[in-house]
Amino acid sequence: MRKFGAWMLCFIAISWFSVGGCQRPVVQSPPPVGYGSQRPAVPEPHEIKPLPATAMPQLPFGNPWKPKATVRDWKHIVIHHTASEGGSVATIHAEHLNRKDKNGNHWKGIGYHFLIGNGTGMSDGEIEPTFRWKQQMQGAHAGNEEYNQHGIGICLVGNFQDHRPSSAQLAAIMRLVGVLKREYHIKSSQVVGHRDVKSTACPGKLFPMTEVAQSEDVPFFTSRDGSLSPSFVTAAGGTSE
Ligand SMILES: [Zn+2]
Repeated sequence: MRKFGAWMLCFIAISWFSVGGCQRPVVQSPPPVGYGSQRPAVPEPHEIKPLPATAMPQLPFGNPWKPKATVRDWKHIVIHHTASEGGSVATIHAEHLNRKDKNGNHWKGIGYHFLIGNGTGMSDGEIEPTFRWKQQMQGAHAGNEEYNQHGIGICLVGNFQDHRPSSAQLAAIMRLVGVLKREYHIKSSQVVGHRDVKSTACPGKLFPMTEVAQSEDVPFFTSRDGSLSPSFVTAAGGTSE
């Protein structure tokens, strides 16, 4: 009987080691959270699902300056400054009425299509289209036939030989140029300073011509009152007035 008991003990011991040894299923404990964890911090690529299309509504592009008249064949945008510290459409209109063309005829009034105020005479950054834009007439601003006929003349109030445009003016000109470029298929290379088409310092050595020429239109959000507000941030920066 004692011999049988010893044999049983031996059998149990052998069985135990065989189960607890190489045949035992390998179960790895999860790695500790924190130090030494191999768990990826971001979801695996297959776990990232694209948002459904309905979650990203298509925002409309805005053109607050769409004229009622038949659009001219615009090919260029020409930027100017007034080289004065103040001014408005009314004051420049009165001044330009007194000017004469090369044939001795009086100008019809302000030669630009748009004026952008600086806070003296007009609000800072205010964009005002003139009668030439509303009626889609040729400009009287470039001193160059091609650019008067096919160039949209935009003037900013200020003297940019002395200082940079204000932040509001820069935001305004970039928005306007971006919209006009998209709307009338005008390339960045066709957005020029007055000095590029005539011997003049206009629009001043401190005007950021390259950044403004590269402005792109962006979608506009429509607010509850129906007005459009831009959703872009200007990259050019300006004086912090
Ligand atoms: Zn000019």
